[in-house]
Amino acid sequence: MIPGIPDYLFFGSIIMILFLTFGIVEYFEKQDRKVRGYRYDILGTGIIRQVVKKRYFQPLFQLPVVFLFFLVIFSGLFGTQSPSSNIAIILTWIIWWAGIVFVIIFAGKIWCFICPWNAVTDWIRRLHFWKRRKDEDLFTLNLKWPKRLNNIYLATLLFLVLTWLELGYDITSSPMATAYLALLILFMAVVPAVLFKGKPFCRYACLVGRISGLYSMFSSVELRRKDEKICRERCKTGDCKHGNELGYPCPTFEYPRKMDVNTYCILCTECIKSCRHDNISFNIRPFASDLVKPRETRKDEAYLSLVMLSMTAFHGITMIPAWSNWTAGLQEITGLGYYFVFTVLMAGLLFLFPAVYYILCWLSKIASANHSVQLKTIFINYAYSLLPIALFYHLAHNTMHFFRESQKIVPVLSDPFGWGWDIFGTAGMNPGPVLSLSAIWYIQVFLVVTGHAFSIYVASKVARQTFEDEKQAMHSLLPQLLVLVGFSIVSLWLISQPMIMRTAM
Ligand code: SF4
Ligand code: SF4
Ligand code: SF4
Repeated sequence: MIPGIPDYLFFGSIIMILFLTFGIVEYFEKQDRKVRGYRYDILGTGIIRQVVKKRYFQPLFQLPVVFLFFLVIFSGLFGTQSPSSNIAIILTWIIWWAGIVFVIIFAGKIWCFICPWNAVTDWIRRLHFWKRRKDEDLFTLNLKWPKRLNNIYLATLLFLVLTWLELGYDITSSPMATAYLALLILFMAVVPAVLFKGKPFCRYACLVGRISGLYSMFSSVELRRKDEKICRERCKTGDCKHGNELGYPCPTFEYPRKMDVNTYCILCTECIKSCRHDNISFNIRPFASDLVKPRETRKDEAYLSLVMLSMTAFHGITMIPAWSNWTAGLQEITGLGYYFVFTVLMAGLLFLFPAVYYILCWLSKIASANHSVQLKTIFINYAYSLLPIALFYHLAHNTMHFFRESQKIVPVLSDPFGWGWDIFGTAGMNPGPVLSLSAIWYIQVFLVVTGHAFSIYVASKVARQTFEDEKQAMHSLLPQLLVLVGFSIVSLWLISQPMIMRTAM
């Protein structure tokens, strides 16, 4: 364990998790009806809505982020290649990549609202920063996206490629590779948008958008239509989907009137602008609202959830010191090169987690003694209950990076490219980490336990939605509790290990 961290805390946490597993399910199930329906519309006050409806509202926030985006690219290409002295690494992998997960919890897809890839794509397509141009004047061929790609497997594949590049090739320590990656994603966002209708990259292929999309089902905010009666009785045009002279059609092909989860919305605010009845709200709501209500569940989303969980754990494993001993040992035994061994281990974990999960779903089916609910349905539905565990473990992992490395922004701000500048007089400073290891450990344990408790809660809802009979639902839940406790113990073990920092070299 990390020096100075008492072992009793680690084992105490495991016992606490086991206790929570069985205690919290029923407690929340009975209590939550009172709070589940709570919504507060931030756009409810007319002034905020009027500001959001202005066409320059989004570009105003996008512009500074686009500036930082190109700063990262410039710094990566032309700055020093020492990771701890280059702003490209600190901004991208320590602040943005770590911070985005935290932001999702409280602000959902807000990253998409300011996303530079999306901003540049919009500006190229529209040949304007904010104006609503006619659809026929847009710089796009407006082709139809191939039907067989109407799923998020492309995003899942890109996520695996990024994970390989990040952990195998160590892209997070290379300013130049980071810059090339940013440019590559920009290329992947722009090209489909000028070829096809809408923004198929955002909807189907963007790994950041799809991962944050699934995580944002947990978020405490949502964009939704307000009153179905107004849509039904007073609106014949569905402008929120098709657009009008006030706003563009929904770029991710959503129909906000019917949208009931956050997953595919990129918070572009176009539907808020185009709805003439001001019938779109942006609500504060209880956490995990999308995960606990009955809704359509999808195979591609279930697979991405499992891949996210496996790869987040793999991420943690590769950062513990023992990892290099394991890979070196395997290289010695097999005589194979590092990349081959790395890829085999990554693929192994990628299949191990889903395989264990599949077996426990099969046990859930047997335990339920229900012959009409298919194993496939159980596999897909329960996969969503893994999301809070994945989200909070991801957050716990990033907490270590953020609080141990983010202070490196202080000298780098004065000398962003490592060229020996001292703009603000802070270049020579070397501040220590923001928090001590033991303080971070307490935060991490809190996060893992919180994620675990929410996963149990979601699983209990899923059980009741999948099986009508209460007894069958509870029986099917038992093997799933094993899944969740098992994953949480792995998470706790991982965060108890010393971790190698990205800017350590
Ligand atoms: S889906 Fe991806 S490209 Fe689109 S806005 Fe979100 S992060 Fe940006
Ligand atoms: S444009 Fe407004 S009123 Fe019409 S369907 Fe959409 S949300 Fe409802
Ligand atoms: S138009 Fe509305 S529903 Fe569609 S992505 Fe934009 S904000 Fe989300």
